[in-house]
Amino acid sequence: SIYGDYIKSVIRTVPDWPQPGVNFRDITPLLQNSAAFRKLVDSFVHRYQEMEIDAVAAIDARGFIVGAPLAYELGCSFVPVRKKGKLPFRTISETYTLEYGEAEVELHSDAFKQGDRILIVDDLIATGGTMLAAAKLITRSGGQVVETATIVDLPDLGGSARIREAGFNVFAVCS
Ligand code: IMP
Repeated sequence: SIYGDYIKSVIRTVPDWPQPGVNFRDITPLLQNSAAFRKLVDSFVHRYQEMEIDAVAAIDARGFIVGAPLAYELGCSFVPVRKKGKLPFRTISETYTLEYGEAEVELHSDAFKQGDRILIVDDLIATGGTMLAAAKLITRSGGQVVETATIVDLPDLGGSARIREAGFNVFAVCS
């Protein structure tokens, strides 16, 4: 992507967090840097401004950070895809498996209209489980998933390949 190398340079890797052997990609230095944050949001705006997106569906919680300014710039709806138990109205949910146990993402059943063109955003794709569950959830709700978008893709973990195999497009600002 246009600013990919620059964005990558302002993401920090924290070794052995949250557990030994994990290299956590930390976007807080990127967010602290106003020029970098602007370039990040602009990377998504540049890609999606002509794609007639009806709603940005952002994944709880770091997806919200880019999803909100992106929806504002695109002039479209903002839809939160939340972790289980956070949304107050009628919900539809999708369960997926983690390395240990299960997780669930939820959406309000009236979050968008049938056939709406939806862009899903999150901060990072690792195994792809979270993004894929969100894409399935939106598809089941009658939305058209135009693309799944992330700040960081970790291609060695195979998540983006798995999402593509399931038939969804994937865009990453950096890998
Ligand atoms: P996946 O479901 O295995 O693809 O994991 C992606 C989800 O976990 C996203 O919602 C991320 O916010 C979070 N995540 C996993 N690893 C990292 C990381 O290294 N940095 C930031 N978030 C991560």
